[in-house]
Amino acid sequence: MAKDNSTDASNRASGAGDADTQFGFQAEVARLLQIMVHSVYSEREIFLRELISNGADACDRLRYAAITSPGLLSHDPDLRLTLSVDAQARTLSIADNGIGMSRAELIANLGTIARSGTRAFLEAAEKKGGGELSAIGQFGVGFYSAFMVADRVDVLSRKAGSKSVHLWRSDGMNGFDLTKAPKEQAGSLARGTIVTLHLKDDALDYLKEEELARIVRAYSDHIPFRIDFLSRHDGKEERRQLNTASALWTRPKSEISEDQYKEFYHHAGGLFDTPALTIHYKAEGRHDYNVLLFVPTMAPFDLYDPSRAGRVRLYVRRVFITDDADILPGYLRFMRGVIDSQDIPLNISREMLQKNPIAAAIRKAVTNRVLSEIKALADKDKEKFEALWTSFGAVLKEGLYEDMERRDALFEIARFQTSKGEGWRSLADYVADLRPGQTAIYYLAGDSIDQLRGSPQLEGFAARGLEVLLLADPVDNFWVTTALGFDGKPFQSITQGSVDLSAIPLLEEKAKKKKAAEETAPEDAKLVERLKSLFADELSDVRVSSRLVDSPACLVAPEGGPDRGLGKFLENRPGGGSVSPILEINPSHSLVRALAAEGKGEGKGKASSDFDDLAWLLLDQARILEGAAPGDPARFAERMNKFVLGGLK
Ligand code: ADP
Repeated sequence: MAKDNSTDASNRASGAGDADTQFGFQAEVARLLQIMVHSVYSEREIFLRELISNGADACDRLRYAAITSPGLLSHDPDLRLTLSVDAQARTLSIADNGIGMSRAELIANLGTIARSGTRAFLEAAEKKGGGELSAIGQFGVGFYSAFMVADRVDVLSRKAGSKSVHLWRSDGMNGFDLTKAPKEQAGSLARGTIVTLHLKDDALDYLKEEELARIVRAYSDHIPFRIDFLSRHDGKEERRQLNTASALWTRPKSEISEDQYKEFYHHAGGLFDTPALTIHYKAEGRHDYNVLLFVPTMAPFDLYDPSRAGRVRLYVRRVFITDDADILPGYLRFMRGVIDSQDIPLNISREMLQKNPIAAAIRKAVTNRVLSEIKALADKDKEKFEALWTSFGAVLKEGLYEDMERRDALFEIARFQTSKGEGWRSLADYVADLRPGQTAIYYLAGDSIDQLRGSPQLEGFAARGLEVLLLADPVDNFWVTTALGFDGKPFQSITQGSVDLSAIPLLEEKAKKKKAAEETAPEDAKLVERLKSLFADELSDVRVSSRLVDSPACLVAPEGGPDRGLGKFLENRPGGGSVSPILEINPSHSLVRALAAEGKGEGKGKASSDFDDLAWLLLDQARILEGAAPGDPARFAERMNKFVLGGLK
């Protein structure tokens, strides 16, 4: 950890410019910088987008702060960014007159504290061999991309309203120094931040005005502040505006190109894929507001962060208020973009926003609109929609138990893997294919789709041509047990209670097999009794199954409690109790027949031990098929080897 061996007091005592202090980079930041410094990434021009984006955020934040402290803006109300070059010194500067950074903020933001995205970025960059550096902004570490093109970076900053100006300097290798800026330099900066890049030998193109203009147009045209190029001719300053600088979301759709939407999404969303869906409209009536929202294509790295924080930016009459107001419900936290209200009071605090009735009305209307647009995509472009569902379905399903009001709307867009085969199925598809006599929507919940597909519990359903929803997202356990049903059909777990499938006829081939099995039935009662007493500590019951066709046994949950999927989920949580399951056996299976034959020996000597060992194998096998471990793995292996070796002789 870096050590700061100066104090503000000692700086003040010794005057501006001296009392240098040196800081080491935090370990992960140092690794990240290594990647930047040695990067041979071809699209490194994105550094400019990142620095401009930071400058624009700083202007947004100042404008917000000025709502309550107008004095902060008064000397220089015209917020803007300024690019300038010094060809001789080979430097490019990016200046903003935004909020600026104090000494402590410079230390915290630029190098000594790893942000949550630092590690995630390192993992992504190391996995992809550095090929994905363009996504750096997503991880909240965009500043460091400056070191792709510069071998030294100076950051001069004056926090709005502050008397002191500080200078941060680094070569990206060993750490940074932080000093009070020399008087003259301090005098040149009334407010905000100037980032000066000492360009590498191979990055001198970024001294050219036209090259900078091209990059600004390509990535930053939509930035709602002016971005100027400042040149000096014969001692005179000249400004040329490089971007359009209007708030994109207030412009009519017809004037906006795909590319402009995409750039804006990159800036406002901090994500660098192509949005799967763009929703742009103006609401007028009781409340007036502009909405420009995007559904990303790929899941952002922090999608499952416990904070469930949203990232939609809230503006009031074009003034940025916050991007953490959770203006949309948690299950839409993957949405990016802007909502700009005409009516919310400008001086509202972030806390008050939660209770503001206009914000609540906007939340309601925009949520409905987003769901209906997603539904429209499902109807219009199946492939695109399914990609969206693959990325965000598990998050949208959170709405099924959080948002009763929109449960039906969410059921309409929800897609499922089912026992019918690969590919997504809607509940409407499911209900359209009900078998005669089928009155419930069957489901099987567990940890992974592959494991669920191999579950013995499915067999009796497959034998009757009954489709079963396979639910493998943790959130499924919650909604499926609270939802009343869909289209009048209740959801029913196939691993809970006794399932009566007798009303539904077997498909032909399976019917024959079942008939043959029934002929041996009388011995089974005895076998069941013996298993019950053997497993009295493990199981709550043993019974003959109507679920099984090909497998010898499976576990199910007793009636009334959680089903097997939810039961196992709860068991794994701290303080979660366990419910003893029921073992169901398939009397037509040869293993069960062998067990019944063994049982006739009436439990003395060798016969007894064979019976017990075989019975334990049957139970452990049922556990393994659920994705659990055998009760005692060593004994399991021993028993299995005994029978395998017996068979080999
Ligand atoms: P991000 O901008 O995504 O948060 P960065 O690494 O680009 O990540 O910047 C880190 C932080 O440094 C920012 O969140 C901001 O607080 C601060 N910062 C960077 N540039 C500026 C600037 N020009 N003005 C004010 N603060 C800045």
